[in-house]
Amino acid sequence: MLKLIILAVVGYIFYRALKSWMLGSGPPPADVADRRATEVDDVLVQDPVCKTYIAQRNSIQLRHNGKTICFCSEQCRDRFIGSQTGDPS
Ligand SMILES: [Zn+2]
Repeated sequence: MLKLIILAVVGYIFYRALKSWMLGSGPPPADVADRRATEVDDVLVQDPVCKTYIAQRNSIQLRHNGKTICFCSEQCRDRFIGSQTGDPS
């Protein structure tokens, strides 16, 4: 009977040691979400015609006086070009 109790205690200690060893040697959690947050491919830019904010990658872009101007649509781009040509300054 005493032998059985010792066996149970040794078995319990062995089980605890094995469990902590398995947890300690496990792979670290991957920071996938943190890496995605640093990717800059969705910058918000303002349309100068209708003042709407759009994602730069979805915008209509126009090179003007060495700067890239982003528009929400081709209509806004055309209105901007029209306002620039009609302006004497
Ligand atoms: Zn617009």
